[in-house]
Amino acid sequence: MGLIVQKFGGTSVADAERIHRAAKRAIAAKEKGNQVVVVVSAMGDATDDLIALAKQICADPPKREMDQLLATGEQVTIALMAMALHSQGHQAISFTGGQIGLVTDNAFSKARIQSINKQRIFEQLSEGKIVIIAGFQGVTPDGHFTTLGRGGSNATLVAIGAVLSADVCENYTDVDGIYTADPRIVKNARKIDRISYDEMLELSGLGASVLQTRAVEFAKKYNVPLHVRNSQNDNEGTWIVAETPNMEHILVSGAALKKDLTRVTIKSVPDRPGIAAKIFGDIAAANIVVDDIIQNVMDDNTAHISFTVEHGDLQDIKPVVDRLCTELGARTAPIYHGDLAKVSVVGVGMRAHTGVAQRMFKALADGHINIQNITTSEIKISCIIDREQGNMAIQIVHDAFELEKVK
Ligand code: ASP
Ligand code: MG
Repeated sequence: MGLIVQKFGGTSVADAERIHRAAKRAIAAKEKGNQVVVVVSAMGDATDDLIALAKQICADPPKREMDQLLATGEQVTIALMAMALHSQGHQAISFTGGQIGLVTDNAFSKARIQSINKQRIFEQLSEGKIVIIAGFQGVTPDGHFTTLGRGGSNATLVAIGAVLSADVCENYTDVDGIYTADPRIVKNARKIDRISYDEMLELSGLGASVLQTRAVEFAKKYNVPLHVRNSQNDNEGTWIVAETPNMEHILVSGAALKKDLTRVTIKSVPDRPGIAAKIFGDIAAANIVVDDIIQNVMDDNTAHISFTVEHGDLQDIKPVVDRLCTELGARTAPIYHGDLAKVSVVGVGMRAHTGVAQRMFKALADGHINIQNITTSEIKISCIIDREQGNMAIQIVHDAFELEKVK
């Protein structure tokens, strides 16, 4: 007998019929002799609808009130799920985040989980009940509602799995699992059976959107196996697990594409210690994530510093960069170059094998795709290219590593 935590995302609980179907899955797991905890998201687009509603009332809603509002989405689903289980003849009880002592810091709209009171959950499980928990929400130590960021039910899933030492966290969604590339773009993309936490972390950071990066970090830290699967069929999905030695045989596990990047270039700033620290310190203080930093040192003791940001962050970063240019005495205005994309390949096999970069660059060159910048980590290689060529590039790279074939 094991302990299973199942999570159903918005599409998997979008209407009464789907809620009943999700309830059946929980029952099936229970009837196999497991203790079952279910984490749910808000129904369908409920969270988006609540956000739209708030915007009709107030252009810039206070963050506390926004969280107070958004937390209602999941509260609807937990009660309905408990009712579905009841009507199918099973004992269940629903809890909000606060009711299981899911305490967070007070960063409204992107709160971090600090603790969970597992006692209350275990008590109910031992009475034979299926326990339903609202995803995406918690409370501050003073009892204010908080939310964990969009897609935050995944963080709830993994956190609950970790504190309960679950045997598996099942993430039910509307796709069959994690693919070697986004199947909407790469038609012959293949579902991956098993992938390591590290690879999944890279892929989700690089644009694969199925799982929040934070949820994967948590799963890795507490070594909770995650099984991403489709709520509409019984197929095995993708297992995200600790790395095993035979994973290294696979050179590249997946490819990812991030569109809508903008490169910011700060030109001719003094080339002396502390400049990069100042620039990236101020940008980080504005909560903007940058990557792909390049610095070119000129003959005249100045440097050009470039980096990419998500296009959506441009509004926020412009004032910071403009101010930095003035403060640092940059001789020209900063340059913003939009319409970029980043294509990446990821695989733990890169640690032990060489030639991956060369193969990727050659494939892109053969496809007449110009690489504007390259970044690497131990297990990934990324190329910045023109946005227009993004879809083509990921297909080319996918073909070059024959990712459609089972290895
Ligand atoms: N309902 C929240 C959202 O739509 C949380 C989640 O679905 O994971 O972002
Ligand atoms: Mg949702």
